[in-house]
Amino acid sequence: MKLLALLGLITLLSSSGVISTDSEIRLPEKTYLTKNVIVLVIDGPRYSETFGDTSYQYIPHLANDLAPQGVLFTNFRNNGKTNTNSGHAAITTGVYQNIKNNGTELPKYPSIFQYFLKEKKYPKEKAWIVASKGKLNILANARKKGWFNSFMPSDYCGPNGNGNEYSADERTWNVVLEKLEVDKPSMMLINLLEVDTRGHSNDWPNYLEAIKRTDDYAFRLWEYLQNNEYYKDNTTLIITNDHGRHLDGHKDGFKEHGDGCEGCRRMYMLAMGPDFKEGQVVSEACEQIDLSVTIAKLMNFSMPTSKGKVITPLFD
Ligand SMILES: [Zn+2]
Ligand SMILES: [Zn+2]
Repeated sequence: MKLLALLGLITLLSSSGVISTDSEIRLPEKTYLTKNVIVLVIDGPRYSETFGDTSYQYIPHLANDLAPQGVLFTNFRNNGKTNTNSGHAAITTGVYQNIKNNGTELPKYPSIFQYFLKEKKYPKEKAWIVASKGKLNILANARKKGWFNSFMPSDYCGPNGNGNEYSADERTWNVVLEKLEVDKPSMMLINLLEVDTRGHSNDWPNYLEAIKRTDDYAFRLWEYLQNNEYYKDNTTLIITNDHGRHLDGHKDGFKEHGDGCEGCRRMYMLAMGPDFKEGQVVSEACEQIDLSVTIAKLMNFSMPTSKGKVITPLFD
């Protein structure tokens, strides 16, 4: 019996040797520790009031608590239309599209949510869009043939979750927590609106206060994930913006956005997760359309219509 067992072991070792040679030839996809990805989009702060102000007075948590745990990109760009719906769609589809900003026009191309749900054959509860702005329910769908009304994620956009009107961020935050608890999605996009709406109201003090409040939500979200048995150590959090705002002295300054000025294009992007470096600051430019393929790589699905490229400085 002993001899037989030894022979069996030798056979096992030699066959595993064959498998390893074979797999070297096939170059298998790297598997990542990330099992869930959450994208938090803080709507419309200008870079000069976030990481561009090196006192970090309006983003104390992002700068002091979160950035040391991840990779901060200080020249993250919206190189398309710098409006809310186009900016968010660039993030989710990986294509710059000039989409009507009132919620009546769907992105042409399918999103990370649709590709993910289709390829993994997951139910719609595995991917969520929770947005303060009702009009962002367009992110759940696509016009492209074969994708319209297909493989759509769940969404709760606006105060009643039906795609109408704007919600207070606190209400959105409560919906986020509820969905994370109940559905345990593997992919989620969150939109918080207050920075943008205070900006459009030309209310400088409250615009700055709103940046602080969203900084607090970002921190609470990361704390929640790290203290949650299901999400800790296997969840990537990406925090960024849909667009900036005009530079001072250009058109209406911080009150508006939507053109190609440096204030509208430049943003930050902070990414934390088990597969990323920690405490790195990257000043080379990368852009919104790059996020979709980066998320697809992390989560091991394909995103063939994305025009972005994988953000390699993130990875260990
Ligand atoms: Zn916006
Ligand atoms: Zn501008």
